[in-house]
Parts: sequence; C-alpha cells; structure tokens
Amino acid sequence: MSLAEVRELEERYLMRTYRRGPVDFVRGEGSLLWDADGKEYLDFLTGISVCSIGHCHPAVVAAVQEQTGRLMHVSNLFYTEPMARLAQRLSESSLGGRVFFANSGTEAVECAIKVARKHAHGRSIEAPEIVSFEGGFHGRSYGALSATPGLAKNPALGPMLPGFRSVPRNDAEALRAAVNENTAAVLIEPIQGEAGVYPTSDESLMAARQACDEVGALLILDEIQTGMGRTGSLWAYQQTPVRPDVMTAAKALGGGVPIGACITAPIAADVLEPGDHGSTFAGGPVATAAALAVLDVVDDPALLRQVRELGAVLREGLEALDGVAATRGRGLMVGVALEDGIDAPALAADLLERGLVVNVPAPGTLRLLPPLLVEPAQIEQAVALIGESLVESVA
Ligand SMILES: *Cc1c(COP(=O)(O)O)cnc(C)c1O
Repeated sequence: MSLAEVRELEERYLMRTYRRGPVDFVRGEGSLLWDADGKEYLDFLTGISVCSIGHCHPAVVAAVQEQTGRLMHVSNLFYTEPMARLAQRLSESSLGGRVFFANSGTEAVECAIKVARKHAHGRSIEAPEIVSFEGGFHGRSYGALSATPGLAKNPALGPMLPGFRSVPRNDAEALRAAVNENTAAVLIEPIQGEAGVYPTSDESLMAARQACDEVGALLILDEIQTGMGRTGSLWAYQQTPVRPDVMTAAKALGGGVPIGACITAPIAADVLEPGDHGSTFAGGPVATAAALAVLDVVDDPALLRQVRELGAVLREGLEALDGVAATRGRGLMVGVALEDGIDAPALAADLLERGLVVNVPAPGTLRLLPPLLVEPAQIEQAVALIGESLVESVA
C-alpha cells in the first residue's frame, strides 16, 4: 500500500485526533527507521521515549517471542511469574513498596490518583484535592486529564473531576500555599515533557516534599517520560533532593510493548485493597517479560553514565548552532529552544525530509529523545542535520 492509500483510509475511518507526519514507517532497528520507500531515518524521538533502547532490541524481541509462544494471557485472577518478578524489580530499584500494573501511562496515573484519594479518606479528608503544575501532562482519561490543567480547560470536554487545582510551574511559594489540610497529593513531573522539556527546580521539589510532609499528603512523581534511564539515572528523582511516595512509569518500560506501573513507597503500599482497582490486561506475561528484558539493559551504571555523557555532548553541539537560543533537560531528554522567528513545525518537517525524526511539543521548541544506546557518530549526524536545516531552510 502506498502512503497515499494509507492516508486515504485514515481520512475515511480514523477519528481525527492526530496530525501525523507524512511518513509510514515499516521497519526499525536500533536508532534507525525505514519508510515504505526504503528511505532511512535517524530516530531522535523513539516513539516519544518508548523505544528507548532502540527499535526491535534483540533482547526484547527474544523475550516477547518466547513468552508469546508459551503463554500470552490468563487475567489477573491467577499468578504469573513475569509479573511478580517485574514488581520485585521495580520496587527494589525505587521506592520499596508495592506495584500496580496498568496498560499505559494514563492508567498508571489513574491508579496513583486512587491511591492518593483513598489515603486521604483514611486521614478523614472528605473532599481530597490533588495539586499539580500548570504545563504538566499526566494523561487523557478524566482523572489524569483533570490533573492536566492545559487540557482540562477545554470546555467542550467538561465537566472535569472535582478535587484538582494547579499552580504555575516551578512556583514553589504558590505550591506551598496550595497545599492544605484537604490535600491528598502533589502530582508533578520531575521534568515536564509534553510542555517542552522544563525541569522542575530542586526548590519546587523540596517545597512539594516539605508541604506534603507537613499535612500528611503524598508526593507523586510522574516518571512516565523521565523514568527508565532517560535522564541518566534509572529514575529521574534519583538526581534530585527528593524521594516520592508514589511514582508512575510507562512509555519506555515495555520497550515498545504497552505497559504502565504505579509504584509505591511503603507508606502507600497497602492503601488499595481487593476490589478497589483492577485491569483485565494489566501485568500480563508478554508485557512484563518485555519490561524485564528492558530493565536488564537499562539498569546498568555504565549505560546510565553514557546517557549523561552523550546528553552533554548533544546539548553542547546544539548550543553551538546559529538559531538555537538554549537547551533544557537532563541526560538524553533534551528540549531545544529556537530563536524567535524560527518556525519550529517547519523545521521539524524539513528535518523529517532530511531523515531526522524529532517533534515540536510546544511553540518554538524541538524535543529530542534519542535512543539511550545512540552512537556518538549519530549524535554528530543529528546535530549536523539540525544545523543544516537551520541555515538552509529556515534562515
Ligand atoms: C506520556 C505521558 C503520560 C501518558 O501516558 P500514555 O501512555 O500516553 O497514557 C502521562 N504522563 C507523562 C509525564 C507522560 O509523558
């Protein structure tokens, strides 16, 4: 089928929820993608940090193939070993409490919201509130959406859930003031991804931690985009002065297979009880086998050090380019602020044509989420392509 034919089907049969780039990809390997015409692309977006260890990583492919041929699904009414092993691995590598599995990031957040509300009811709070940051992104189900101020304000989708409030990003004072005796949780990202890669300041994180401790609320960090080695530590919070009570993971967790997880510290581990939550598919053997294979690769100090080093090289290269005002982020999660007047969507479209996949999460901003195993030469190549595009197509 040609791209034109695929687009025609899409036009007729798919809900118009996405504006897609004009490519249909048919194959991926490592940092590379190929379209239906055989054209090669360097992928510096990795399916929004999902294929973080590269496309079709052999260890993930083998784990999925093996598990798929043996047992795909039995539901959560029975035990399966990969789920139990993955829960152990996630808990022991982070907060030390219990794990609930989900099928996506949004659902992991949904579980975190439930934990926070039930924990608050346990403290006799009748109308629990969750505080988040403007610009934050936590997903698109009504709970997660209600905690995503930029999207929750769309009146056509209302009414939102009650019990959510937001304060300006990185306004530590406003955050402190918003937390009171009705607060169930503060829910924020260590680095806002969808907003355009804005790190949450240590000051804000410490204010959140302290305010939560003072009133007995939970600090929930949404690590769906920042987790699994993206920032150069297994979890982004590990490079900050705070430790959350609850954490959400998804995106890179399954290496391309859908899976999410809500991970707790002991303080929140026993909040949910039988009947409180569930999911037919979640934690199934194929997804959890894939995640175990991803963790084998990512939970490695040498790889994480390399992520920090390559991130620094990438940012240095980008900052030397005419047209780049600044870069933001940590590790291999990089936002590129373009100088005023540069059309970011046009730049990204030109880069796609030149064979580099990136995206534009916010006006004037490129986001780069390259594979964690990217080669130094591929970083050079990406910087060169962005430099050429800035000079030739946009200047
Ligand atoms: C992507 C993302 C989500 C939503 O995850 P889905 O898998 O799309 O449901 C939530 N929070 C953050 C920080 C994300 O980056």
